[in-house]
Amino acid sequence: MKIFYFLIIILWGGVLTIVYNQGHKSVENQLISSLKSNEREIGQMLDVAIAYNESITEQLILNFDLDDQSSPHPLIASFKNFPAINTYGLQGDETFAGKPLKANLTGAGSLADVDAEEWSEINAVLGLNLSAPIAAKGQQFLWSYYTSQKGFILLSPSVPTEQFHFAEYIYSKPFWKIATPEQNPTKETVVSDLYDDAAGAGLMISISTPVYYRDTFKGAVSLDVGLEYLNNVLHSDLLVLENNISLISDKGKVVANKAFKDLDDIGFELNDQVLNYQLVQFSGGYYILSNQVKGKFYIAYQLSDEQLQNLVVENIYGRLVIVSMFVIILWLLVKLFDMLCKTRKLADLDGLSKLYNRMCLERLSNDAIEAAIKNDQPISVIMIDIDFFKQLNDEHGHHAGDQGIINVASVIKRNVRKVDIVGRYGGEEFLITVPNTNLETATYLAERIRTEIERSIFYGDTKVTVSIGVAECKAFNLNSFQELCKKADLALYQAKENGRNKCVVYSHEMEIYNQRHS
Ligand code: GH3
Ligand code: MG
Ligand code: MG
Repeated sequence: MKIFYFLIIILWGGVLTIVYNQGHKSVENQLISSLKSNEREIGQMLDVAIAYNESITEQLILNFDLDDQSSPHPLIASFKNFPAINTYGLQGDETFAGKPLKANLTGAGSLADVDAEEWSEINAVLGLNLSAPIAAKGQQFLWSYYTSQKGFILLSPSVPTEQFHFAEYIYSKPFWKIATPEQNPTKETVVSDLYDDAAGAGLMISISTPVYYRDTFKGAVSLDVGLEYLNNVLHSDLLVLENNISLISDKGKVVANKAFKDLDDIGFELNDQVLNYQLVQFSGGYYILSNQVKGKFYIAYQLSDEQLQNLVVENIYGRLVIVSMFVIILWLLVKLFDMLCKTRKLADLDGLSKLYNRMCLERLSNDAIEAAIKNDQPISVIMIDIDFFKQLNDEHGHHAGDQGIINVASVIKRNVRKVDIVGRYGGEEFLITVPNTNLETATYLAERIRTEIERSIFYGDTKVTVSIGVAECKAFNLNSFQELCKKADLALYQAKENGRNKCVVYSHEMEIYNQRHS
């Protein structure tokens, strides 16, 4: 029976492992689908930004071409010097063609220092549609601007000149540096790492497109995307990921993560072994990485062991309950079956001697005799009765009598084979059915039991003797257990007659004598 319990535990373990692995795979798939949705949104944002930058760049180049023939832009008449801040340009609150300007142009130095080439470039830049809303705080893009190699900047939305204007430090900012021919020889649209905005709009990244006119680097058209916006794009239905999604630049630096509050928070380092769309375990937990988005970004998810486990358990909870219930039911069924078997066994046993009771003894013996007759094999019974048992009860009490019964039973049990059927036939009477055994061997066994009982002591130094009758089936052509018992009983009676503590065999002489007197 133990083996069944063991098998149930093995089965449970096996099924749980399968369910857990399935859950793990399903969580991995959920992570991948969330990753892909993030990837799509970041990709769309990049597409819009790149298309926007490139359209402005194209317009600028077109304006450079037109500039030779056109007259100075009307807004140039509004240009002023701001000597206190060593700046020239617009004030930032001008209107043009009856509409407020959405951009402001400022340059370093004074108007007197602006040369013809710079005026020509300023003219081209002012030719852009400066009334269209380009970017706004809180929107997808914070700032849109053109920074010139000549030392001026056109910034949209417009900011009063005193608050923001062009100065030399601008050339050290990431949006400019990444676009310069030194850092961007392939002249493509590039994306900066996270940095703090010069105009006070907080942490952001810049998408910069270099402007070349007749193979000369003129400046860069840039768009800024705020950290807040990036973080809003990086979201997932799996709430546990809230702070664990990172946007990583092509240089391997994290540029967005909800856990960031300032630049010092950036501590994330991408492990070289992280593979695209595969959940990989490292000492700190698990990582999963997206494909590269438009050649610019990766998106990475980081999960602690515990967070992943919680996701898996959440995923398999229903199945876990069903499997466990199934196992508990199976366990109870085995337990029930086990108890039924034990009860059945107990119902077959005699409570005191723990030998078969009379009913079971008769049933098993009948079967054995039937089989013996069918197979033409000898079969014997040995009937044992304790001598003067009443006297033992009277002299030493019933408890001593009970011990006598237990003692005799244990001597009998010790001396028989597994195939022999041993039972308590009556009060102090026992019976052994000995299959495939002739009279001689059965008598030998009976004699051995008799002498062993005679020698054994119990209840202090109490001793009993037994009288035994032995009979065999085949020799007298008997065909039932009942008949065989009758013969053994006659032999037992003879043993008592002969003075007890004897073993008597039911012989042909006894058969003849009985036939005569019956
Ligand atoms: P004999 O040598 O002729 O067999 O004499 P006996 O005293 O053994 O035979 P008798 O049939 O007169 O007595 C049997 C006694 O066995 C009577 C009964 O009280 C006692 N007995 C029967 N079953 C039990 C039992 O379970 N426990 C005890 N202590 N005594 C029992
Ligand atoms: Mg008796
Ligand atoms: Mg007796």
